[in-house]
Amino acid sequence: MNEKAEKTVRALCFPFLCGISHVGARENNEDSFLVLKLADAYLLAVADGLGGHNAGEVASGMAVKTLGEVFLEEYRAGMQAYLVRLLLKKAHEMAHSRIKENATGEREGMGTTLVTAFIGGGRAVIANTGDSRAYLIRDGTIIERTKDHSLVQELLDRGEITEEEARRHPMRNIITKSLGIDFGVDLYEWGLKPGDVLLLSSDGLHDYVSEERIVEIVSSGKDAGEIAKELIEEALPVTRDNVTVVVWK
Ligand code: MN
Repeated sequence: MNEKAEKTVRALCFPFLCGISHVGARENNEDSFLVLKLADAYLLAVADGLGGHNAGEVASGMAVKTLGEVFLEEYRAGMQAYLVRLLLKKAHEMAHSRIKENATGEREGMGTTLVTAFIGGGRAVIANTGDSRAYLIRDGTIIERTKDHSLVQELLDRGEITEEEARRHPMRNIITKSLGIDFGVDLYEWGLKPGDVLLLSSDGLHDYVSEERIVEIVSSGKDAGEIAKELIEEALPVTRDNVTVVVWK
């Protein structure tokens, strides 16, 4: 792949698991993703960096790198669910500290979202910081979705705006938790059934493509690689951001 193409799109795909990150409507791609095979599980993640200069891509890159390192070092096959949860929390915390320590000079104020999915033992354990998302889609319906750490989500929770208003809200990019700036992490545990699709996305996808359309594409019966490509193709004409998806089926 030449340098221009590499700058435009990064991908790592198998039929059942596929990550694609596209620069979309921006000059630089500040999103990062992780697709990592562990002894008896998979670790997937999407991170969306914040900050001027190249700080955003540094932060999102640091987040997925730290996450991968923590799991390669400390994950053991057959590890119990509560230990996986602790390890996910630890990885998000370590990424936060590392980004914060490096946020000096031109990189002052850098941060990133990070949504992580550990898939093993018939379940997905999710850790979320920020407004990238994990979706569990089954039989043409969104069964589960992470809750954003965002101003707009807080307004929604207080009943001050509707879902429709949230999607177009001028302040929808303001996040209330991130790695590097204001730490916080939520954990979820979702049971998996055959045919389920787990989707991780940056807001370049889910702020611009409706959930109805996402579900339609995901439920087409195609493999994970084709679903990921179609989601990116759907977002590109409408997004004003970088677009990243990781699809597991
Ligand atoms: Mn974004």
